[in-house]
Amino acid sequence: MLRDKFGRYLHYLRISLIDACNFRCVYCMPENIKFKAKADLMQDDEILLLTRAFVELGVDKIRLTGGEPMLRAGLPRLVREIKNMGVRDLSMTTNGSMLAQHARTLADAGLDRVNISLDSLDPAKFRRITRRGSLADTWQGILTAEEVGLTPIKLNTVVVRGYNEEDVVDLARLTLTHPWEVRFIELMPLGSEGMFALESLVPSGETRGRIEQEFGPLEEVPGYNGEDPSRPFRIPGAMGTLGFISSVTAPFCAGCTRLRLTADGRLRLCLLHDDEEDLLGPLRNGASYDEIKKIIREAAWRKPWGHQLDEKKFPTNREMSQIGG
Ligand code: SAM
Ligand code: SF4
Repeated sequence: MLRDKFGRYLHYLRISLIDACNFRCVYCMPENIKFKAKADLMQDDEILLLTRAFVELGVDKIRLTGGEPMLRAGLPRLVREIKNMGVRDLSMTTNGSMLAQHARTLADAGLDRVNISLDSLDPAKFRRITRRGSLADTWQGILTAEEVGLTPIKLNTVVVRGYNEEDVVDLARLTLTHPWEVRFIELMPLGSEGMFALESLVPSGETRGRIEQEFGPLEEVPGYNGEDPSRPFRIPGAMGTLGFISSVTAPFCAGCTRLRLTADGRLRLCLLHDDEEDLLGPLRNGASYDEIKKIIREAAWRKPWGHQLDEKKFPTNREMSQIGG
């Protein structure tokens, strides 16, 4: 079992399969970003070996992310092999642009569910935020994912001042007629877009206020396990739920059970801290499987707590797309 020095049990791994993306969301990566060479990224067998080590150390929940994970060649095989390791909950975060074509293959391979990023229901604003995306494609992706059973469907909205802070009302309205969970995420400062993120933050309290102004007070949904960063709420009578992920204004470190594997094979201990442990280097240099497990166990122990955003300090050694959010 993986534990850290604060007694947290770390059983949730997020794997960034690729740093490249077909979008260039304003809060995630600069327009002219340079992606890593393929040889510097984990190869399929390296991903599978490292994942197995995590699973043997007690990880039972895995999320595939990126960059855009659907750009990774051989994704169905990775999904199948990871699910067959006995992972209880295997999910993927995607921009949804390619889901309409591939959702069924991924569901058949063993993917349990998807989170889809959706920042606006206005095609022009969607384009402005993603710089390259098409709302129609992502929307079709959401519908197909639901049809093939990649459920419960969760939609991720990053709220960005000057881009989509008013759109949260229409996005929340989706839950009246769909059994989806729409989650509003506070902008996190990281990498080269870090200052933009700090300046464009919309606190969750403001987003919730805007939604309640339209729909009235939200109800708390019973049965919250305290582990998910987003406590579920409901517009009275709605089919779906709403969540607010307030990583900046109300960090949820006490309930954090996450570890992250970057696309280039580093174990990232916390999104908002630079601290990482190289796993791919030792693996390529001949470390044994047991040695890799020992490196993971020792690094997990030092998982940090808290962030220093009040002092405007944020990690700069990585872009969000290399870590996976
Ligand atoms: N490309 C996929 C997608 O967009 O869903 C997966 C990778 S993306 C990095 C994972 C999640 O991180 C998305 O929901 C995205 O909106 C979120 N994200 C990216 N940059 C962020 C930031 N600066 N603050 C908060 N969330 C961010
Ligand atoms: Fe691509 Fe996702 Fe980052 Fe947008 S948030 S640029 S879709 S990796």
